[in-house]
Amino acid sequence: MHGVRSIFAAGFAALLLAVAGTAAAATTVEDIRVWTENGRTRVVLDLSGPAQHNIFTLRGPDRLVVDLTNSRLSQKLSGTLPTSGAIRSIRSAVRSNGQLRVVLDLNEAVRSRSFAAGPNGKYGDRLVIDLQGRGPLQAVKQAADRYQSGRDIVIAIDPGHGGHDPGAVGRGKTREKNVVLSVSKLLAERINAQPGMKAILTRSTDVYVEHRERMETARRARADLFISVHADAVDDPRPQGSSVYVLSLKGASDEAAKRLAERENASALVGGVHLSDKDQVLASVLLDLSQNAALSASLDVGDKVIRELANLGPVHRRTVQQAGFLVLKSPDVPSILVEAAFISNPSEEKKLRSETHQRRLADAILAGISNYFHANPPPDTRLAMNLKGTSGGSRQHVIVRGDTLSEIAERYNVSLGTLRSVNNLSSNSLKVGQKLRIPATAGS
Ligand SMILES: [Zn+2]
Repeated sequence: MHGVRSIFAAGFAALLLAVAGTAAAATTVEDIRVWTENGRTRVVLDLSGPAQHNIFTLRGPDRLVVDLTNSRLSQKLSGTLPTSGAIRSIRSAVRSNGQLRVVLDLNEAVRSRSFAAGPNGKYGDRLVIDLQGRGPLQAVKQAADRYQSGRDIVIAIDPGHGGHDPGAVGRGKTREKNVVLSVSKLLAERINAQPGMKAILTRSTDVYVEHRERMETARRARADLFISVHADAVDDPRPQGSSVYVLSLKGASDEAAKRLAERENASALVGGVHLSDKDQVLASVLLDLSQNAALSASLDVGDKVIRELANLGPVHRRTVQQAGFLVLKSPDVPSILVEAAFISNPSEEKKLRSETHQRRLADAILAGISNYFHANPPPDTRLAMNLKGTSGGSRQHVIVRGDTLSEIAERYNVSLGTLRSVNNLSSNSLKVGQKLRIPATAGS
C-alpha cells in the first residue's frame, strides 16, 4: 500500500516538473485526426509535447469542450478541421489565460472519455478523446421522431467518370475522376450532418457507372435533387473558375457549352452505352411532359449554387449555363452539373487536389442547396413542416459589438449562406444595432 502511494507521489512530482518545464514553451497541437467506427468516434490531437487537459460537455447545442494548458494550434491547421461521425465541426480559440480551447460541435449528445498517450512508434504525445453515441434505443426513438415530422430531403450526388474513364487529366496528371469523388464524398458528409437532409452517392469508389445507372440510382432513392460533380478542361491553361450547368431542351447556351457537353457525354460511349434513336424519341416526349417543371427548379438551385461558388473566387460563368448533358436527362428530378474548376489550369489543378479547397467547394455547394430548399421545401419533408411551424415567429438577432456573421450562424444553427440570403447581405460586414432575420432550421 505504502509502495503504491510513494510511486504515485513520485509520479505526481514528475508531472509537476514536466508542467513547470513546459510553462515557457507552449505545446503545439500539430494535427487533429478523427475517425468513426461502429458508432464510436475517436479524436486524436497530436501534440509537440505533453499538455494538461480538461474536457467537459455542454448541451443546447451539444458540444464537447477540450481545454489544453499553455497550448497553440499549429499554423497548418488554420483551414477547416476534420469532421466525422458525432462531430459536426471543430473550432478553436486561444483564451486570455493561454489555454487553447478546442470545441467539438456534436450532432448528438455523447458519452466521452479522454486520456493522454505518450510517444509510441511514429507518434509523439497525443490526447485521445473517445465519443460514444447514445444506444440503439435512442436510434429507434430518432427514427420514430423522423417519421412523425416528415421525411428527409434526398440529394443524389454523382461524382463524374470513374474506373476506366479518368475524365479530364491535368498537366500535373491529376485525374478528374479522383478529385470529383473526394469533393462528392465531403459534400455527402456535410449533407448528412444537416438535420432533415440525406445524401446518396451514385458511386463511392473508383468504378465506372453508366449515365443511365446514375440517374436510376437517384430515381430509386426518390431524390429531390441530382447533382453531378465534374472538373472542366480546355487546351488553353488560362481559363479558371466554376460553372454550373442544367440541361438544355433546345441547344447549348453557346459553342463552348456545346463542346463541353460533348466531352462529358463521350464517356457514355466509352462505357458502351449509346443513346439510341428510340431513346431520343422517348426522351423528348418525357422531357416535354415533365421536364419543364424540373428544369425551372434546376435553374433555380443552379443559380443559388453558382452564387455561393462565386464567394470562393472568380467563377468561369456567373450565370447558370445550359447544354445537352446526358446525365441531366432525368425528366422528373431537378438536376444540375457543377464544373468545380478547370483541371487544365495548373493553379486550379493544385487547388483541386487540396483537401482544404475540396472542403470549401463542398461547403459552397451545400450552402447553395440549403438556400434553395429553405426557399422551396418539398411539402412532405421535415424541413417544410419545421418552416411552417415557425413561420409566424421567425427570430431576430440585433447586432452588438464584436458579433460576426459566422458566429451568429453557428449560434442559431443556420448556414452562413442561408443567413446571408434571407437578409440580402452581399458581404459579411455588420453594423451595431442592425437587425438580422434568423430563419427556422430543420433541426430546431
Ligand atoms: Zn467530367
